[in-house]
Amino acid sequence: MELKKCARCGCFFASPSNVCCNCESKDRQDIYNLNNYIVNSNSTPSIDNLSANTGVSIKNISRFIENNAISNL
Ligand SMILES: [Zn+2]
Repeated sequence: MELKKCARCGCFFASPSNVCCNCESKDRQDIYNLNNYIVNSNSTPSIDNLSANTGVSIKNISRFIENNAISNL
């Protein structure tokens, strides 16, 4: 399997996903927090708003949106 560069921490790893095994659990936690925040919002939050309220970086939020990992945006 070829080595890929982790989309989150930049280390090289061999796995079918976009992030290394260390970051997979962090991604899962971030996605959980983001979806939780979105579900509890009255209106659709902006990316800036999401980032400020969940502490997840805009770069990571953009990546989750590209991967369809977060809903209702
Ligand atoms: Zn990583």
